[in-house]
Amino acid sequence: MKIVVLPGDGIGPETMAATLDVLEAASKRFDLGLTFDHDVAGHESLRRHGATVTPALLDKVRAADGLMLGPMATYDFKDEAKGEINPSKFFRKELDLYANIRPSRTWAGLPHKVGTFDLVVVRENTEGFYADRNIESGSSEMLITRDVAVSLRRITRMCCERIARSAFELATTRQKHVSIVHKANVLKIGDGMFIDECRRVAQEFPEVQVDDFIVDAMMAHVVRAPHRFDVIVTTNMFGDILSDLTAELSGSLGLGGSLNAGRDHAMGQAAHGSAPDIAGQDIANPFSLILSAGQLLGWHGQRQHLPAFAAAAQAIEQVAAAAIEAGEATRDVGGRLGTAATGRAFAERLAHAR
Ligand code: NAD
Repeated sequence: MKIVVLPGDGIGPETMAATLDVLEAASKRFDLGLTFDHDVAGHESLRRHGATVTPALLDKVRAADGLMLGPMATYDFKDEAKGEINPSKFFRKELDLYANIRPSRTWAGLPHKVGTFDLVVVRENTEGFYADRNIESGSSEMLITRDVAVSLRRITRMCCERIARSAFELATTRQKHVSIVHKANVLKIGDGMFIDECRRVAQEFPEVQVDDFIVDAMMAHVVRAPHRFDVIVTTNMFGDILSDLTAELSGSLGLGGSLNAGRDHAMGQAAHGSAPDIAGQDIANPFSLILSAGQLLGWHGQRQHLPAFAAAAQAIEQVAAAAIEAGEATRDVGGRLGTAATGRAFAERLAHAR
């Protein structure tokens, strides 16, 4: 499996170095034959190539089997004409990575803020309110007069259908329960279509229990009783917000794994941002990126029918649990190690995983 590695901005290089230690250990222990193609995106690419991402990089990623993307300083990138392209949206759009799979679970050894839970947010990733990816060219956010802005949201039956299918397929491998999150009481047409498509796909999965929640009430439900959720399917922006909440409820935003998957490509990416406030201090939590790397291996294994990859993905999840319990983690989750040492300790445990 050839993986393109783009460390990203802020805490990206530190967390990616720790993640590479883990991937190398996984490759050795499970005989995966991973190879890495190191390149740059974000500020480093802007400096070197005049753009945060380039067409040549996209070609390279298309030809590889997977991409690991570090967190990007997206907020800094304002003008595409100056090469300031949001790398996350670039790969999500160009590779049609329509399903953003964001698991969150509580861990033994960490205080449970709201009780134990184990859920996955399945977020539509290619349309919705995201002005930089929901139209073919340009932006769907406009300044009509100096004082009037309009932001358009796109919802298509095709995108609703395929994200619903991802959620129901995932649910069949878990607790067989899908919760649809929407705002159809106000966005009657767009979210009405989303619910209709989810319910239509649900008919093909009679063994899966289905319910639905209005997004604002969902924030209360997920804080009050997160254990009642298994797979949550929702549109782009609601999923973005909800999955940061569930990651934080699990112990830290630094624990949120995130896989962006399409039909032919996938990208592991931390759920959090570039965290400039803690960059370069060796205190950033690398677990989010490590868990995302595990998801990428799992995706490849499932697609290529390679049990060793599935075993490696499972071992990464198990080692994360053991490492957190042993305090071999960063301070934000009560651990006693820095970022680099956390990666090394994780790799060491993985080398001896059964
Ligand atoms: P952030 O997610 O970078 O940070 C939010 C808070 O969480 C900060 O206090 C930070 O220190 C903490 N945090 C984040 N990741 C952590 C980790 N691994 N370990 C420990 N603590 C962690 O959000 P922000 O500060 O609002 O955004 C910073 C930049 O990141 C902005 O440019 C934003 O646009 C960008 N961003 C990028 C992505 C992405 O690349 N996927 C996602 C979100 C934000």
